[in-house]
Amino acid sequence: MSIDRSTGRPAPDVLADLASWRAADPPTHGGRILSYVYDPGRPDLDEVASQAVRMFLPVNGLDPTTFTSVAELESRLVAFARDVLHGDEDTVGSVTSGGTESCMLAVKSARDLWRTTNGPTARPTLVLPTTAHPAFHKAAHYLDLDVLAVPVDPRTGAPTATDVLARVDERTALVVVSAPSYPFGVIDPVAEVAASAGVPVHVDACIGGWVLPWWGGIERPWDLAVPGVTSISADLHKFGFAPKGASVVLYRSRERHRAQYFATTAWPGYPVVNPTMLGSRGVGSMAAAWAVLQVLGTSGLAELVGSTRAATDALVTAVSGVVGLRVVGDPTGPLVAVATDESVAAADRVDPFLLIDEVRRRGFLLQAQPAMVQPDGSVLPRTAHLTVTPVTGTVVADLVATLAAAADEVRGLPPAAPDPSLAATVLSEGLPDDLAVVMATLEALPAELVQPLLVEVLAATVDPAREGLSGR
Ligand SMILES: *Cc1c(COP(=O)(O)O)cnc(C)c1O
Repeated sequence: MSIDRSTGRPAPDVLADLASWRAADPPTHGGRILSYVYDPGRPDLDEVASQAVRMFLPVNGLDPTTFTSVAELESRLVAFARDVLHGDEDTVGSVTSGGTESCMLAVKSARDLWRTTNGPTARPTLVLPTTAHPAFHKAAHYLDLDVLAVPVDPRTGAPTATDVLARVDERTALVVVSAPSYPFGVIDPVAEVAASAGVPVHVDACIGGWVLPWWGGIERPWDLAVPGVTSISADLHKFGFAPKGASVVLYRSRERHRAQYFATTAWPGYPVVNPTMLGSRGVGSMAAAWAVLQVLGTSGLAELVGSTRAATDALVTAVSGVVGLRVVGDPTGPLVAVATDESVAAADRVDPFLLIDEVRRRGFLLQAQPAMVQPDGSVLPRTAHLTVTPVTGTVVADLVATLAAAADEVRGLPPAAPDPSLAATVLSEGLPDDLAVVMATLEALPAELVQPLLVEVLAATVDPAREGLSGR
């Protein structure tokens, strides 16, 4: 049935639709979601961010020579990030739409420089630990590089520098290390890798870049202070508390930064110069990022990181005290991965996927991370991921009690068994509330089967033919 869109509607009506859809989202503020959102717990920052966005809504970041406000903003954000991440006067960079774009651009720059000596069609490699963010796999996919994935130690969650360096050779365009990695929150051996790689090294500090500088107690350098680190990414829309759509990528040299650009005059239109992947670019998030950082200053950031750290420490201590659960490795920063403690009897073990479902029923959303078989055959455990933010501190007692109660509820229960018939059900009826069986199935099926299924499930959500699509 087609919908009549010929007549316009009163704006309040339209806005009411938006509000009703938003009301069905989980709460983005208040600390009940422990991934995706980064709530500083400061309504004043939300307010300044939304005013900044509004002011910059009509601006096109495509051309900072026309809209000079964009150059003002971007150069200031790059300078701020350079100071925080210990760059020097040869450190330059760009503001991008997010971590994925920052990472992909770092790969693009490294690939193009590698090709200047190896030929314009040669295919380089990208060396990364298995815990590196999928943005790098995406970069390799888009940009024609081969990924060489290095296993991490399942106990610590980090790779050894020796294992990383063993994969480096003349085909390596870039080595990636994380500070910290998303799945387990541990910092890779940045200095050891960078000291001996002899090829460009990118530090993915998308999540750590705006939090580790004030974390405290980190003895080993992990940013541009490390000689040999050639680029770094740090997301403003994570611990810079900007609205989604802002990240920074920095390069140790102007040449590396320039290799990120695309320019062409091969059309009869205006001369094209794109620093990033986008053409026309919204700059609302960039303006908001700058405004939020100005309001906070580094002392304000340090204060927010202090709350985040206190909440993280409380959480780690609490989880370590729950029978049947353990924290993976020794995380540095605001990310915690909770796995089953296999050292206790089966009757005392707690399955992370069952835990997540039980915790969700009690009002908190954790993120399920499936187990993974590494290239060397070792297995990384399935885990429940928690990203701690400043606002987590206001609910940490409740969260800890909820984790303990949920663990009591599912302790000793066998993990959900994979159900290959589930794919058909999910495709026709959508995802169930309880995800344990879905995640167990994902984990068990081969990647060649799972990947197209994931695409289908997600694509179906935006298909005009989807179930329940009504109204205009
Ligand atoms: C979030 C994240 C990314 C990707 O960032 P997006 O903003 O989601 O595109 C890359 N690396 C790490 C470590 C991250 O946490």
